[in-house]
Amino acid sequence: ENTAARQYRLGVLEGDGIGPEIVPASVLVVDAAVAAVGAPAIEWHDLPLGRAAIDEHGAAVPAATLRALAELDGWLLGPHDSVSYPEPHRSQLNPSGTIRKHFGLYANIRPAKAINDEDAVVPGTDLVIVRENTQGFYADRSTYKGSGEFMPTPDVAIALGIITRDAVQRIARSAFELARRRNRRVTIVHKANVLKLTTGLFRDVCREVAADYPDVEVDDFHIDAMTVHLVRRADAFDVVVTENMFGDILSDLAGEIAGSLGIAPSINASDDRAMSQAAHGSAPDIAGRDIANPTAMILSNAMLLDWLGGRYGDPALCQAAALIDQAVTDTVRAGTKTRDMGGTAGTGEFAEAVAATIKRL
Ligand code: ATP
Ligand code: MG
Repeated sequence: ENTAARQYRLGVLEGDGIGPEIVPASVLVVDAAVAAVGAPAIEWHDLPLGRAAIDEHGAAVPAATLRALAELDGWLLGPHDSVSYPEPHRSQLNPSGTIRKHFGLYANIRPAKAINDEDAVVPGTDLVIVRENTQGFYADRSTYKGSGEFMPTPDVAIALGIITRDAVQRIARSAFELARRRNRRVTIVHKANVLKLTTGLFRDVCREVAADYPDVEVDDFHIDAMTVHLVRRADAFDVVVTENMFGDILSDLAGEIAGSLGIAPSINASDDRAMSQAAHGSAPDIAGRDIANPTAMILSNAMLLDWLGGRYGDPALCQAAALIDQAVTDTVRAGTKTRDMGGTAGTGEFAEAVAATIKRL
């Protein structure tokens, strides 16, 4: 393998609400993990986004931020509180949607992992939903004339869903590549008995891609059957690949089954860039009080490191990601928790405890 250690350049977009607290806390954890595996330090680039960017630059996602991101390997996106923005910003596509669209981040990857078995509906759950992020029925992400919904008369509303071979191929490859770094099982979720053409194409193209991965076990389920399987035996799944709307619903279901929806991480990725993003919002009700839980952001960053490690064939980064996961679990089990998890640790205090655990692992 390539031994010349690559130095990664990552953006930091703090965002709104608790963003300026949880994002810096999560950067500190990445620095500790990268140092622990002996990889070169990350080169960080702070960039304006959200309410502060509206006030200073006149846009929630300034053009200069987009230009700077284009030069980077990936970035950390803090939460945004776009419903509180002044018009016209409130009515525009929100910051994460804007960035996702601009960079074609077609894969939304959301794990559901039971950290505390007492909190889990199905203990032992450890799966990842790979959601196609650009097609299906979801209007602002549809490629059909920029919108998937219309009303021919005031009493009739029509939604169009689109599925294309190219888009299924690339999301299927993301899922199978991820399965190779995990437990080599992929489950395809569709509704090919009713949405025969669209989700049927989704299933069929995933099956075609599966032929290139004979080492990965494959099965497929209808979306309705899948919800039943998840509730009963979520611990039996590894990687689940599905279209946009099914993925949206399944990832919340799976997160709650794992008992960790409040700390659920995610990344959004294209072939050459990835963005880490906590599944939760900007929590304006607790902003500025040093009580926010940085776990979702920290785990999202671990996913970003793992993705970079896979993308650039850099096992040290995958190892750094695994260290972060382990350290978060150990820290929580040792009793250091933020208030939402029943503890008393502050945002920075929790992150420092995770970093200290990384140094001991
Ligand atoms: P959005 O529409 O932006 O997703 P939301 O309405 O889902 O926002 P959140 O901002 O996710 O709302 O907050 C929901 C509740 O969870 C709030 O009470 C908030 O304080 C709490 N919360 C969210 N994130 C965290 C966190 N990281 N740490 C502690 N509490 C949190
Ligand atoms: Mg929300």
